Order: sequence, then structure tokens, then C-alpha cells
Amino acid sequence: MKTEFLSEDQTKRAAEILKGGGIVAIPTETVYGLAASVYDKNAIKAIFKAKGRPSDNPLIVHISGLEDIENIVSKIPENAKKLAEKFWPGPLTMIMPKNSKIPKEVTGGLDSVAIRYPANEISRRIISQAGVPLVAPSANISGRPSPTKFEHVVNDLNGKINAVVDGGECAVGLESTVVSMLSDIPKILRPGKISAEDIKKVVGAVEIDKSVFEKPNGFEKILSPGMKYKHYSPKTPIKMVIGDACKYAEFVNTHRNEDIGALCFDEDIPFLKVPYVSYGSVYDTISQSRNLFEALREVDKLDVKILYAHYKEIDSLSLAVYNRLIRAAAFCVISL
Ligand code: AMP
Ligand code: MG
Repeated sequence: MKTEFLSEDQTKRAAEILKGGGIVAIPTETVYGLAASVYDKNAIKAIFKAKGRPSDNPLIVHISGLEDIENIVSKIPENAKKLAEKFWPGPLTMIMPKNSKIPKEVTGGLDSVAIRYPANEISRRIISQAGVPLVAPSANISGRPSPTKFEHVVNDLNGKINAVVDGGECAVGLESTVVSMLSDIPKILRPGKISAEDIKKVVGAVEIDKSVFEKPNGFEKILSPGMKYKHYSPKTPIKMVIGDACKYAEFVNTHRNEDIGALCFDEDIPFLKVPYVSYGSVYDTISQSRNLFEALREVDKLDVKILYAHYKEIDSLSLAVYNRLIRAAAFCVISL
């Protein structure tokens, strides 16, 4: 298939392709999404095929106004109204009970549906011009780092999708916070820019699902199916290293004859004697979030056997970085 490359001024063309049953990668403020009409089962199948995504991994439905929700859910929990008021449009996805109009293909067979109202102007324009809510999982091959630039989408999906809209670099760079609103206390299933503290301030209490921190053991019921799959992985195997700058540099340099590389912070660079890619300043979690997925794509160019990724907790956004990095490292952590 020939993939059309569209500029941000060609949203009408993108909408036309979506209305005709096509699949189109679109920019959002989190990462690029691979969009299709929520009601088009064939287009939804094409998304799973293009990404190589397991069919039980549900999709997030993207809306362009609060009025769209009534056509998607059977009930809007009170706390969801409060969070929508505070954080929408923005990088928050809420899981609510679905209604019968939403095909099971969208929700991986679940009775709930994930909804997000994105802030990015281009994505909002495309959703309104398409005239229907759009499903839009990250526009990458499943298992690869999520795409934060037009080039990342082209590298992964050129020839497999109908079009991609160039909206430049994504402002947030990590996927949305996913929070389940199915019980009285909201539960975070995937951390993102909107933190547990942000949510707690609005609704009084919030829980964080343990799958955010731990590898699923294969026996428990998994609330967020996406969490059980391999994620964000470069081709080079990664180990996550937790420790201060001196210890990290010493550790990495000790292994320098073993064909290794570093995924590090800017501040580590002067002390390293191995090839490296930096993902931002240790003190700036906003830039770490924006850079991480691109850095995870860049590290393969170092052409090393193993990569030691430096992590340090700084603030409430660190959990989102940690969650992606520990999955990229297949839960292999070295604490110094
Ligand atoms: P992505 O589309 O790549 O951003 O991934 C979407 C994430 O949302 C995955 O981790 C899904 O498991 C999760 N998700 C979507 N819908 C639901 C749902 N109804 N219940 C639980 N998790 C969901
Ligand atoms: Mg994804």
C-alpha cells in the first residue's frame, strides 16, 4: 500500500480517508496514534494487523468534545466528571463502562472502554472532521518504542497504513495516564504526565495498580491487558541502573571492555568512557519524557551488545519514565 504523507494543513484529507475506512497516523500531544473510526470493524482489524498488536489489547477511543462521551459509555461516574473538568482536553485516559454501540473489537472483549479527549489541535480537528470518535493506539510496531516524531511513524509503518499526518514533535512524549474509573477509588493502570498527586487533589483518593511497578506473574487477573506485553524495546538488550551519578559512571566504566553502551542523563556524559545516548537532564523530567522514546530508538545505532540505562527518581513525573524504562529493560534492574 502507498502511504500518503500529509501536512498538518491537510486534516480534511486525513478525515476523508478515515471516513472511507482507512487507517491514518495522527499527531497527539502524547505520542502519534494510529487512527480509525470507532465503528469500523474492518479498519480496526487493519490497525491490529499493521501494528502486529495482540487482539486482546484494547484501544483508546479519542473524542473531540465532552458531548461525544454519551455515545460511548453506559454511565459516567461522578469522579470521571470531576477529572474531565480538570484535565480534559489533555493526556488523561479514563476507563468507564461501555455501551452496546462500541464494538468488542475496540475493547479486546472487555465491558469497559478507555476514553481520551486530546489537547493537540491537529488531532482534535481530524476527529471533528471525521465526524466520529477515533480509536488511536500508538502508531508504532507493537513492542517498539512509541513514536514521538513523524519519522518514527514512517520508519515503523510506511507502506502498511493509508496516511500519516506530520505534526512535528509530540509535546509530552509519553503516552497518557490511564486511570480506571470502574471502582469508587480511581486506579492508575499506566502512569503519565498527569500524576497520582494531580488526580488525588481533584477526587480525594487514588490507587496505583501494582502492574505499574511489577512484572505480571501470569496468574493474576490483569486490569490493563497492554501491561502484560513486551514494550518499548530497542534491539539492544537493556538493563536499568539505579544509583547516583558517581556510582553509575564507575559501574559503566568498569564494564567498558565488554562492548556496552549507556543510556544516560546529560550530567553523566563528562564521566563516561563508553558510547552513550542521553535522554535529558537528570533534573528535568519533562525533557526526559519528551526524549525517552527517541533515545530508545537511537541506542541501536551505538551497535553495542548491552545497554545500561540510568534512572533516578526526581518528582511525580519520574514514575511515568520509570514505568517505560523498566519495561524496555524487561524488568531487569541493578541497584547500586
Ligand atoms: P496504547 O493504545 O498503545 O496507548 O495502549 C492503550 C493502553 O490502554 C493499553 O495498555 C491498554 O491495555 C489500556 N486500555 C485500553 N482500554 C482499556 C480497558 N477497557 N481496560 C483496561 N485497560 C485498557
Ligand atoms: Mg502502545
